[in-house]
Amino acid sequence: MIRIEEIVEKVASNHPQANLDLLRRAYLFSAREHKGQKRASGESYLVHPLEVANILANMNLDEVSVATGLLHDVVEDTLVDLDTIRKYFGEEIAHLVDGLTKIAQISNISMEEQQAENVRKMLLAMVDDVRIVLIKLADRLHNMRTLQYLNPEKRKRIAEETMEIFAPIAHRLGMGKLRGELEDLAFRHLHPDAYRELTEQLEKRRQENEAFLSGVTERIEAKMNEAEVPFVRVEGRVKRLYSIWKKLKRQKIDLDQVYDLVAARVVTPNEVRHCYAALGVIHNTWRPVPGRIKDWIATPRDNLYQSLHTSVIGSDGQSFEVQIRTEEMHQIAEEGVAAHWKYKEGKRGAHDDDNAFQALRSLVEWTQEVKDSRDFLDSLKLDLYPKDLFAFTPMGKVIQLPRGATPIDFAYMIHSEVGNTCTGARINNRIIPLRSQIQNGDVVEILTSPHSHPSRDWLNFIVTSRARNRVRHWVAEQQRTESIEIGRKLFEKEAARFQLSAKKLFGDSDREMKRVAGEYGYGRVEDLLAGIGYGKLIPRNVIAKYLGPEQFEQLDKQKESRLRSGVRAVKRLIRFGDDSIVVRGVDDLMVTRARCCNPLHGEEIVGYITRGKGVAVHTKRCKNVASLMINRERIVDVEWAGRPETTAYAVKLLAVTENRTGMIAGITGAISDMKTGIRDARASVANDEKGHIEVTVEVFDVKHLDKVINSIKGVPGVLDVERMQGVV
Ligand code: MN
Repeated sequence: MIRIEEIVEKVASNHPQANLDLLRRAYLFSAREHKGQKRASGESYLVHPLEVANILANMNLDEVSVATGLLHDVVEDTLVDLDTIRKYFGEEIAHLVDGLTKIAQISNISMEEQQAENVRKMLLAMVDDVRIVLIKLADRLHNMRTLQYLNPEKRKRIAEETMEIFAPIAHRLGMGKLRGELEDLAFRHLHPDAYRELTEQLEKRRQENEAFLSGVTERIEAKMNEAEVPFVRVEGRVKRLYSIWKKLKRQKIDLDQVYDLVAARVVTPNEVRHCYAALGVIHNTWRPVPGRIKDWIATPRDNLYQSLHTSVIGSDGQSFEVQIRTEEMHQIAEEGVAAHWKYKEGKRGAHDDDNAFQALRSLVEWTQEVKDSRDFLDSLKLDLYPKDLFAFTPMGKVIQLPRGATPIDFAYMIHSEVGNTCTGARINNRIIPLRSQIQNGDVVEILTSPHSHPSRDWLNFIVTSRARNRVRHWVAEQQRTESIEIGRKLFEKEAARFQLSAKKLFGDSDREMKRVAGEYGYGRVEDLLAGIGYGKLIPRNVIAKYLGPEQFEQLDKQKESRLRSGVRAVKRLIRFGDDSIVVRGVDDLMVTRARCCNPLHGEEIVGYITRGKGVAVHTKRCKNVASLMINRERIVDVEWAGRPETTAYAVKLLAVTENRTGMIAGITGAISDMKTGIRDARASVANDEKGHIEVTVEVFDVKHLDKVINSIKGVPGVLDVERMQGVV
């Protein structure tokens, strides 16, 4: 087991001003809290935080990061809470530990493969300090190094997650060395047979490869010296297992056919011109493979990787790759964002113009146009998908949404049926209004009911075009369905007067109806009925087309005489909710009370065929009725069913009174004397110095209302009572 003092020494040599006491305290705290816990390997648990801290110290990270490495599992795996960490170690470490605990929650979720990209993005979007990611990667690296102690199922899951989530994140942060080790370890556990086979094959070629590489590196060194091109060192290496295996699989070849199994690397002093000079030397020595030269110096990769790559054909015909880069580029290629901490001290202290730091800085300016290395770190985070957020289903599926998205948007991302039947939502286990905005990392549960439908109101707050399209589609579809239904009823009602039954019209042979539809320019009979339902066509005219002029005239006359002889269309009761309004001669029509006048049982009413919302019933005195009368063909006769109402309706009354106290009490007393419910009562004094009392009462019908009004009028001091428009 590595000793804490070894780690302390490393940090001290990298960061002379570091607070070493912090490390020792973190160690003691972690040792105490993890006491008695064991890892799967049987070792004391403390080995793990120590190894993680050591990896972080090797990355040259600051003492705060290394101390956090020692404490990273304390909140998750022991009884210690975040407040205790804050109390003992301060806000900065508490913040890092908190970030790590959150990430642990994300990566614990079960994850489908295609979700990996989202999880990576989310992970990076959620942390606000890049050190959290570095500590997490160090944690993962040590877990991967000791993965063999876990059961095969866990091994596979963790290896998969490493391959899909953490190795790509390391890559994104430019940490080539860490990414390589993570990939090779994950490869070993995901494809043990392929791993073993490949290792054996490489082992057989080891001597041969080593001999070849030492020949190549010696030759390069000699040629560089000859040409007087300075270099720091020339290295030979066999490529990493996982990258070889990927190549074998991708190109469907075997190991003998991999031409760049081995590679040489030239590391030059920190001046770019030496790299290009070295490239010249290499190409003078061996013939380059055309099309294989890549200049990642002139155009660095997104993760700041820089190098010259070329492939050349060796004297024995075997080709191999040569990479050329400066010392700084090498460090950044290996350590990526972690290389930053090496230079952080310099920035604070006297070495402000430290070459390496300047190089990193100019690199950053070049690629990202940011002024400061601080911004560089920020940009790593902020660059990543600032417009998106990531939320989970309770099952752990990640849903990517634009910022401002609501649970309705979320529901439609899952499935349009989930959106269409959505009735409510829980975010992080709390019921919230559907118009609430989802935050990054929220767990969103959509509540549905099979009988529920989308609401037009949703269009006022949903943000994704997907949800918007589905809701619009549903509304249009719904209007059409209702219009067809209304059209059918109205048409059948009219047809019955001509003694045409529905069976005859729409039965086995509806050829005639198709003809009529065609004459109106409709492709289908349903479209014709929808036209009637929308009020565009008058049923009587459609009948005329159906019968032809002669027969129509004849039957029309018969109809008149039948009516005169007292045969009347049967009035049937229809029910809608607890409502009971009859549309004369038609049953099962959708009827709604108009919100503007909220008719009460017993009032004089009139029906109006709306576009797609059935028949709206207004009171005859409603101020909107006059304008509706312009479309006379859409007015239908309606009347109250003969049954007493069983549902009470809220009606708002305005009582104008003398300005004196006790008026509210008098009025509410009068109302309750009538055994009538009161929902609300409020008083104010108007400009005319009269009292205005608004009271909402629950009445069954218009007679009931009249009684209540009269009763209020009888209260001393009440000057007038009127009914207010609108629904309460
Ligand atoms: Mn851990």
